[in-house]
Amino acid sequence: MTLTELDKTYVAGTYSRFPLEIVEGSGCLVRDSGGREYIDMGSGIAVNTFGFADSRWAAAVTAQLSKLQHMSNLYYTEPCAVLAKMLCEKTGMKKVFFSNSGAEANECAIKTARKYSADKYGELRHTIITLENSFHGRTITTLAATGQAQFHRDFKPLTPGFAHVKPGDIRAVEEIMGTCGVAAIMIELIQGEGGVVPLDSGFVNELAQIARENDILLICDEIQTGSGRTGKLLASMNYGITPDIVTAAKGLAGGLPLGATLFGEKTAGVLGPGDHGSTFGGNPVCCAGAVSILERIDDELLREVRSKSDYIFGELSGAEGVSAVTGMGLMLGIETKKSAQDVLSACMERGVLVLTAKNRIRLLPPLNIPFDLLKKAVGVIKSACAE
Ligand SMILES: *Cc1c(COP(=O)(O)O)cnc(C)c1O
Repeated sequence: MTLTELDKTYVAGTYSRFPLEIVEGSGCLVRDSGGREYIDMGSGIAVNTFGFADSRWAAAVTAQLSKLQHMSNLYYTEPCAVLAKMLCEKTGMKKVFFSNSGAEANECAIKTARKYSADKYGELRHTIITLENSFHGRTITTLAATGQAQFHRDFKPLTPGFAHVKPGDIRAVEEIMGTCGVAAIMIELIQGEGGVVPLDSGFVNELAQIARENDILLICDEIQTGSGRTGKLLASMNYGITPDIVTAAKGLAGGLPLGATLFGEKTAGVLGPGDHGSTFGGNPVCCAGAVSILERIDDELLREVRSKSDYIFGELSGAEGVSAVTGMGLMLGIETKKSAQDVLSACMERGVLVLTAKNRIRLLPPLNIPFDLLKKAVGVIKSACAE
């Protein structure tokens, strides 16, 4: 059997894969089984923060791998504690819980919000407000949080206690607060899977104010927008808000599975011994990878992210076949006159891998993509949109 046949026969059919067998990569280039090279503008969906097999990251990971690959959370290990300190110092948050994925980071945020509210106000005050068109994960609870009916179909009953409002609709938030006890509001500042749609900053600031005044926790799902992706370490820094809980995953460990739930002043003490846990959470290899990524997301790199972003906006806004460019930093959506699938295929034929989100092309290149490769990729995308 070919690799494709093996996969189709034995791997559960949850993904409709492109007809490429990816073998290896280096930096922003990746090679398929036929030896063909592609410029990667997706980073494995915002995961490979510094591209494939980055040498500094790989050295940090392999050094840790040959020392201690795993230990249970019954003991102290260095990478986990060092990473938590770095995360807190760079974000102003106070404590961190580590897990293995975005969905788990959100599960932890939701559990924490419910417990915070139950401890102070009783269990009836448990509703979590999220937004329509959001995406928060694939577990039964994070699906309930996700405000897109297409993901809910066939999996009901979902976890109760979630209410969805339209982005921008403050009145709907107040209405829900009038009818049931609200524990938290959970948002993606830029709806990634929803089509790379940034929330309006007036709306976000109103939500933050309502949350603060009513002791409702504000949770920012920064699983896609974190790790420097939007030109600041966290997207919430672009909005000037201070969430009570931030979740991160995807790009956090540069390609290894790691989720993090960051707690602010109010929430740092909510979870105590036995309240939550994870066998692999805080794995030393993943944490060592994350430390090596985080120490490189400095002001200079973030400036570079913003200037690459400006370049892409400049090239593609108003270009032929392009209706709109949305997003922030190196998390961009391109609304095209042709179908996004057609543009994606044309790019792939010309050696550039892009993503889609809803009806848009989505770009999430490695943050350190060299300018010459970026120019080449943007040129290909531009011509694919124009024809
Ligand atoms: C990807 C993503 C998730 C889910 O992360 P997994 O690691 O796939 O569980 C949750 N929220 C947002 C905003 C995401 O982009």
